[in-house]
Amino acid sequence: MDRLATKYLKPRKALSTACAGCGLGQVHKKILLAIEQLGIADGDLVWGAGIGCTGRQIFNTWKGDNFAGTHGRVYALATGLRLALPPEKKILLTVGDGDAFGIGLLHLLHCARRNADLTVIVADNFGYQSTGGQYAWTTPDGAVTDSSPHGMQDPNWMQNGRDILDMLRAAGAGFLARYTSVEGRNAVSGIRQAIEHRGFSLVHIIYPCVTHFFSKAPGIRQPADAHRWLRDRTNPSPSAEFPASELTFKTGIFHRAGHDTTPEFGEQLRAFTKKIREGGGHDTR
Ligand code: SF4
Repeated sequence: MDRLATKYLKPRKALSTACAGCGLGQVHKKILLAIEQLGIADGDLVWGAGIGCTGRQIFNTWKGDNFAGTHGRVYALATGLRLALPPEKKILLTVGDGDAFGIGLLHLLHCARRNADLTVIVADNFGYQSTGGQYAWTTPDGAVTDSSPHGMQDPNWMQNGRDILDMLRAAGAGFLARYTSVEGRNAVSGIRQAIEHRGFSLVHIIYPCVTHFFSKAPGIRQPADAHRWLRDRTNPSPSAEFPASELTFKTGIFHRAGHDTTPEFGEQLRAFTKKIREGGGHDTR
C-alpha cells in the first residue's frame, strides 16, 4: 500500500483511520491497484465518499478532486457532476453497506435506473460498525450484535432468496460484481472492468470488521482468524459442507449489460439538448 499511497493519496491523509487488522485497507488497496492498471492519473478521476468506516478511511485521500455525500446523497451529487464534467472524466464512489443498501438505498436505485456513467464500490462490514456494531442490511441471520443481543431476526439483503444485486439489476444497473477482501487479482480485475464500463457499475466487496462484528457474532478476536473465516466462505467447495443457513459468498461478475440496452444518462441528455437546440423539440408555446 505504501507505494500506491505515495503515488495516489495526499501525504497528510495517507495514514489509515481503520482499526489494526481491519479489512478496509485491503479494499482501498484493490481500488488503487485497479486505477493503476487502467493508467488513470489523479486529474482523470473525481472520488466521492459516503459516511461510516468507509467514508472516514477514504474521504479526501485521493490526490485529485474529492467530494462527500452522506446517506445516499453522494449519488445525486455524482449524477450532477456526471452531467457537468467531460464524459472521459471518471467518477468513483466508495460507500458502506449501511449507506448503500439501507439509508441511501432509494437514491442508489434511482442512480442505477438513470444509468449515469459512474462506479460505486460498496465496502461491506456486515452492519453499522463505526457507531459501535449495530445490525444492518447485510448482517447474517441470527448474528449477535450490539442491537441484536439474542441474534438478529430482521431479514437481510443477502439470504433466504434475497440478493441486493438482483434488486439493483432490476433497477437498471449495467454492471454488477461481488468479491471479498481476501480475494486478489480477480477482485482487482472486477473493479477495473467496472470502472471501464460505460454506464452505472457497482462492485460489492465484503470485508471483516475485527473490532465489532467478528468479536461479537462469530466470537473471533484475532484478525488472522477473521480473514480465514471470510476466506473459507468465499466460493467454498461443495465438500466444505456449510449448512444452508450459513452465509457464504459466490463471487465474480454478476451482471454485465450490452451497450445497446439503456443509454448512458449523460449521452442521452446531451443528444436531447442538441435536438432541442436544432429545433427538434416539442413546441410548448
Ligand atoms: S470499526 Fe470495524 S470496520 Fe470500522 S475501522 Fe474498525 S475494524 Fe474496520
